[in-house]
This record gives sequence, structure tokens and C-alpha cells, in this order.
Amino acid sequence: MFLTCMAALALVLLMIFCLRLSVSPDWWWRRVSILLMLVLLFSCSGLIVSSAILLSPPSSRQKAEGASIDQVMEGVRRFQRDVLPGEREFFKRLAQGQAPRVLLITCSDSRIDVHLFTQTRPGDLFILRNAGNIVPPHTGAGGSEAATIEYAISVLKVEHIIVVGHSHCGAMHGLVHPEELSGLPSVAAWMEHARQVREKLEDALDFFDDQALLQVAVEENVLLQLKNLLTHPAVREALAGGRLALHGWVFEIESGQVMFFDERAGKWRKL
Ligand SMILES: [Zn+2]
Repeated sequence: MFLTCMAALALVLLMIFCLRLSVSPDWWWRRVSILLMLVLLFSCSGLIVSSAILLSPPSSRQKAEGASIDQVMEGVRRFQRDVLPGEREFFKRLAQGQAPRVLLITCSDSRIDVHLFTQTRPGDLFILRNAGNIVPPHTGAGGSEAATIEYAISVLKVEHIIVVGHSHCGAMHGLVHPEELSGLPSVAAWMEHARQVREKLEDALDFFDDQALLQVAVEENVLLQLKNLLTHPAVREALAGGRLALHGWVFEIESGQVMFFDERAGKWRKL
């Protein structure tokens, strides 16, 4: 910022100098002054553009921008025009029914593309998504999560449930910084399902920096949600019958790395 101001000051001084030259009686000096002023004008515009970029909030410079509604609609048209014709048989088979063997529970975050990072296709995974990949404990009152889990196990007979947390999770950030949820009563109420993680974090607040706290929150939340799965009767029954296995994963956005919780070793390992 300081350098930008100094550069702007130097340009203004040079401009004044050129203006003085432009009224010189010598035609050669007048031509030199016009040339210099043109160069200065180009420099000024460059300075203004770079300053605008530098002064803009970091988020607008670093975040990956999402698709506009026009891009989404154009994507649908492109899919129907360019992709579907080559995949007719595949989609006809899909229309006959689904038989996924894995229920994957993950966050609603737009950066998590489960088919991309698991290299699977439509029909391969039964997917449950919500803020913070949370599994509310079973209460018998129904709800989206309980219904999805019950259907996956009792009807689709999935053999595995994977709870996938992820790095840079906004929901987990809210857990680390509950004061930021003051204007979001629904989110704050939803995050109550991860209150035990927050309580665990209390002991670590003084020892870990923000990034490390978030990492711990993401990992502990996956383990808590695996525990919550055990409160669902369909899960308990399938586990007792040896028809189901539970897995806890954490996906790191920038590296694509997946860590899984090794229950026997009691620690996270690279997949
Ligand atoms: Zn998230």
C-alpha cells in the first residue's frame, strides 16, 4: 500500500513537470512532454488497476467462483447434446433401478464432488449430504437423515457407510467459533448435534492455533457422527448381522488426500 502511494506521488510530480514543459516555447520540448504524458497516462491506468486488485478483499481474489445460473442451464443443454447420446445404454440401465453398495455421508460444501474424488459414477453411491456431514442421533421422530439411513440399509442393503468430513469445513469453523453463528439460529441449532466435539475442543483452545483446531474439529466430528450412527436401529441390526461396516474419512480439498480412521490402531491414516 505504501509503495503504491509513493508511486502515485511520483507520477503526479512527473505530470506537473510535463505540463510545465508543454508550455515551453521550444517545439522539441513540447513534443517530448506530450510523449512523456502519454507514457504517464498508461502508467496511471496500470497503477489504478493493480491498486483495485490489491485493495479488494482477499476472499474475492482467492475463492473459486461458482457457476452462474446461465452456466448451469447451459451445462444441462451440453450434457443432453454432447454426453447423453454416447451414454444411452448406461442411463437406460440406471433407469431400471439402483443397487448401490455404499452410503456416503458428507458435507453440502460445493467443493466436495464425491463422484470425482472417488472416481465413481451415477448409481454407484447412495449419498446423504448436509452441513457438517452430521448424523443426528435416532429419536424416532423421523427426519431426512434417519429416513435416508433406514432406506439405504433396509431396502438398498448397502454394505458400507462412509462418513466423510473435509478440510476448510465452514460448519466446523462455526463449531470452533460459535460466536459467528449468532445471526444463524438454524445453523447454530443444527450444530448442537456436534456439541460434544465443541466440548472436546475446549481443552485444546489454548494449545492449538485456528487451523489445527479446525482439523481436530473435522476429525472428531467424523468420529462422533459414526457414534451417532450406532443409535439408529437399522444400523445396529445390520452391524450385528455382519452385513454392514462403518468408515470415517477426511478429504483434504487442496491435495485430494483422504485420511481414514484406523479403529484398531486408534489413529488416522492415509488411504
Ligand atoms: Zn463442510
